Formats: sequence, C-alpha cells, structure tokens
Amino acid sequence: MNIAQPACELTTCRPLEGQLAVVTGSTSGIGLGIATALAGAGANVVLNGFGSREEIAATIASLGELDVEVEHDAADLLNTGGAAALVEGAIERHGRIDILVNNAGIQHVSPIESFPVERWNAIQALNLGAAFHTVRAAMPAMKAAGFGRIINVASAHGMVASPFKSAYVAAKHGVLGLTKTVALEVARDGITCNAICPGYVWTPLVEQQIADTARARGLTHQQVIEDVLLAAQPSKRFATVEEIGALALFLAGPMASSINGAAIPVDGGWTAQ
Ligand code: NAD
Repeated sequence: MNIAQPACELTTCRPLEGQLAVVTGSTSGIGLGIATALAGAGANVVLNGFGSREEIAATIASLGELDVEVEHDAADLLNTGGAAALVEGAIERHGRIDILVNNAGIQHVSPIESFPVERWNAIQALNLGAAFHTVRAAMPAMKAAGFGRIINVASAHGMVASPFKSAYVAAKHGVLGLTKTVALEVARDGITCNAICPGYVWTPLVEQQIADTARARGLTHQQVIEDVLLAAQPSKRFATVEEIGALALFLAGPMASSINGAAIPVDGGWTAQ
C-alpha cells in the first residue's frame, strides 16, 4: 500500500455507496448528524423519529441532495413491535440492512423518590428495549449477508452516573451491556456492534434537560450549563453532532472491522476523570 496515497475509502470515495442504514431517532440532534454523515458517504438512509411533516420533508430533500435514497418511517419505538417493524420493513423494501444505528432516546430528570414510574418504564423501553428489538430483527439479514455494523448511541452516562437520572443512567449502562453481548455473539459473522458514548452535545434533548435540571436543583439556566453540565466536561464546550456523526461513519466503514464491543467516549475528557 502506498502510504503517500491513502486508501480511497478513507478519503474521496463514498465508502458506504449502495449500503442501507437505518437510524432510529434521526429527525433531530445526534441521529440526524449521524444520518447526514452516513448519507454523505453514500449510504441510503431510513430516517425515523417525530417531527412536523414539513420539517421531515425538508430533511429528506436536503439529504437527498447527497445523491442517496432517503425515506422516513414514523414508527413509534415505544409501541409494541414498532422497533422490530421499522427494521423488518426496511429489509423488506431494500432487501438488506448494512448499518443499524440505535440512537432514539429520551431523558427525565428527577429525584428517585418522585421519579414518575411511567417515565422510568418509557426510558427503559426506548433507550434500551428498542435497541434489543432492532438488533434482534436485523440479525438474520446481517448474518445471511455476512456483514453488518451496529452502532448504539449510549452516553457518558453509560459509564458514570449523575444524580437525578436514575432511569437514563440505568438504561445507558444497559446499552453497553447489550453492545458487548451482541459483539461477542456476532464476532465471527462479519458483524460488529459498538457504542458511542457522547458527553453533552447541544441538541433539543439537552435544552429540555437544562430546564428540568434547573427545576430539580433550584438553579438558573446559566448555572445549570456552567455548574452542572459543563462542570463534568473538562473541554468546557458541548460536543457537536458532526463529531458524533464522524465517529459513526468511521465505525460503519471498512477500516473499523476489528473494532467490536467497544464503548467510545466523545465527551471532552469527562469519563477520563
Ligand atoms: P433529540 O431529542 O434531539 O433526538 C431524539 C430523537 O429520537 C428525535 O428524532 C425524536 O423524534 C426521536 N424519538 C423520541 N422518541 C421516539 C420514539 N418513541 N420513537 C421513535 N423516535 C423517537 O436527542 P439527542 O440529544 O439527539 O439524543 C439522541 C441520543 O443521544 C439519545 O439516545 C441520547 O440519550 C443520546 N445522548 C445525547 C446526549 C446529548 O448531550 N445530547 C449525550 C449523550 C447521549
């Protein structure tokens, strides 16, 4: 290999050309950042998540300019069977699923004694349970193809805890357990399963959390940003959805075949402490 001219799949070519990616929760935030990165590398994308008809149409049009097929499946992953149906429908329409990104997630911030049971159940069902159902549904097609890339968007909260986030921290720790288990099961099938663990990324989910944390801790909006969120993040800045998208693209690509069962922080040093 000529090191003066890096392999084309690392530079100018579209390494994911013709592949199919299903990205849960990709109408907003990190999921949209990941879908954009994958589409930019040539993958056709099935978007999923909520939003207005106009916003979703605009997202489809803008990703379509990357010369890939883009569609939206509105499956509510909290509904019984919704997560499996999202994957099964994609496989039925496209005859393949190369990349599965489990990203959809919700948060609720509250002391445990007043944590609403319904919120606990929803967070386990979406942040952890939906990933189980999509992986389960994708596995036969990935095994038959001898190829697959599963990327679970966990969190720094999959590695460490913060107070008032019992459901989220428990679910994200669970996502890392699921990631490692699946990685071991598929290690000889040409499939990898890895987790990305973002620190704080500026998205609608975090904006909402600032309001909730301010209420739970009796702080101002600015105090929550400086003294709670970025206090944990040594870089003192929010990560970007483009940074998360770039890592997802690498994990989906041909040079990541030996990365399996990993939990990779993108957290400005938070979990190094
Ligand atoms: P976001 O609120 O911007 O996006 C969440 C996405 O999930 C949206 O597309 C939404 O429509 C979709 N969604 C919500 N409920 C759904 C359901 N029932 N069925 C299908 N789709 C549903 O949030 P985000 O910040 O981009 O978070 C994305 C993921 O990244 C989550 O798993 C979150 O836990 C994780 N994460 C976020 C941060 C952060 O700082 N933003 C940090 C670490 C991990």
